[in-house]
Amino acid sequence: MVGLKLGAHMSIAGGISNALDAAAAAHSNAVQVFMKSNRQWSGPRLDAEDMARWNAQMPACGVSYAVSHAAYLINLASPKDPLWEKSIAAYMDELRRAHAYGIRHVVLHPGAHTGSGVQAGLQRIADALNRIHAQLPDCVDVITLLELMAGQGSTLGYTFAHLAQIIANVEEKERMGICIDTCHALAAGYDFRTDEGYAAMMAEIEETVGLARVGCWHFNDSEYDHASRRDRHAHIGEGFVGVEGFRHILNDLRWDGVPMLLETPKSKDGDGKDVKNLQALVALVLDVRRLPEGLR
Ligand SMILES: [Zn+2]
Ligand SMILES: [Zn+2]
Repeated sequence: MVGLKLGAHMSIAGGISNALDAAAAAHSNAVQVFMKSNRQWSGPRLDAEDMARWNAQMPACGVSYAVSHAAYLINLASPKDPLWEKSIAAYMDELRRAHAYGIRHVVLHPGAHTGSGVQAGLQRIADALNRIHAQLPDCVDVITLLELMAGQGSTLGYTFAHLAQIIANVEEKERMGICIDTCHALAAGYDFRTDEGYAAMMAEIEETVGLARVGCWHFNDSEYDHASRRDRHAHIGEGFVGVEGFRHILNDLRWDGVPMLLETPKSKDGDGKDVKNLQALVALVLDVRRLPEGLR
């Protein structure tokens, strides 16, 4: 039985491998990390000692899945060449760092068109990815997961059709997948809180990107209501997604083995809130055998 993979975004303070310890302490079996500061263009040189520790810790601590999240500054949809080129270089660096750590998935915000229009922006993203893929044949083992966005401002990727269109225009499709953020999905207009709404969302995923392209979920509740197009994460069950939305996803066997990662606000003293949020999810799972051992 594959079962559920549950975890959270964890801090890399003191070394990326420290995130594995935090994940293990929360009894989770999956983790998300930044490979460097998420608000800077460049990062420090790769730390060989930390890489070795990461490789040793991964099997030792019961965490079987890790995904990295690319820096927020990257905008592959930008119509401005200098920012577009800088974004391409920065995203290549993200892929190289993930590859070095043996991380198979990198979550990427598709980008914002900042005035050029939806179609031009979507094409710009695909063009960038084609260039990146051509220049990084060694990183073919790292898959980009385009994140479903809330649709704030000129942000692209707030429908599954957007994500499917980008992938359709990427030549090496085996290097592409998607990440569904529950907060973003609700804000973007997908109402998966009801049985009918969840079924409709699943049908739309099937018809656009296909379920097999979903590499991971971001599990966040939302401070803003359905179709608000606003992105603010809340603790599980304390926002407009509510427990019903998560219940549908957690008990759908089609998501077995597809990691679900919290990106909920952290408490000042560390991971206390993660444990509480994980427990809130655990309480919704009907078949406890599907839970990671530490969370049963
Ligand atoms: Zn994200
Ligand atoms: Zn968000």
